[in-house]
Amino acid sequence: MDADLLQIARSTKGFMPEDEGLALHRLACQQLPHGPALEVGSYCGKSAVYLGAAARRTGPECVVFTVDHHRGSEENQAGWEHHDPEVVDPETGLMDTLPTFRRTIASAGLEAQVVAVLGTSVTVSRHWRIPLALLFIDGGHGVQPARDDFAGWPHWVQPGGLLAIHDVFPDPAEGGRPPYEQIYLPALASGHFEEVEAVGSLRVLRRVAGQAGERLPA
Ligand code: SAH
Ligand code: MG
Repeated sequence: MDADLLQIARSTKGFMPEDEGLALHRLACQQLPHGPALEVGSYCGKSAVYLGAAARRTGPECVVFTVDHHRGSEENQAGWEHHDPEVVDPETGLMDTLPTFRRTIASAGLEAQVVAVLGTSVTVSRHWRIPLALLFIDGGHGVQPARDDFAGWPHWVQPGGLLAIHDVFPDPAEGGRPPYEQIYLPALASGHFEEVEAVGSLRVLRRVAGQAGERLPA
């Protein structure tokens, strides 16, 4: 990955260890020639820089969509483990990571490659119609948000495309269950995805059956 962008990714607030970010970057370099990437969970743009760097390197048509309401997940709210008071809007008292996200992407020079979609994952997924070469799910980690992301997104992965899921912890001692139980296991159980790679808590599955837009078997 280009050294200037790696430096920006390192210094951006967020939840993406470097080895996992570099794996995402490498997978995006492979996949972006075949179609767009979509991320669920932009936060301050850390993972989007790894993905956008791949788009910049891969070609002028390459694009990464990133969906977030920018109000934070449950676990980012005041009093919770991953709260950061610097990303609270003093006027509304609500979390707002959009200004920080925008500064990150502008400073990285990735505004042409990274397209922010501002909204709730469920609403955006309900209207989404674009086949994806790479889907990266890193949104809300509660049971319901994870279920909603599973119901809304993986069927848009095109045949041969990749589904990457963050914060997958098969061992409950290492972290929360929903990405593992509500996304990773059901994706494998559907028969439409096979695991191809694991780096840290990142799990990467390839679509081996079905068509983009065709719902996964329950
Ligand atoms: N990928 C980021 C981390 C994402 S944190 C990084 O590299 O650092 C999870 C993000 O998901 C938060 O910004 C939160 O606002 C967003 N999110 C949680 N639930 C959501 C929902 N239902 N719709 C849209 N965004 C959601
Ligand atoms: Mg994560």
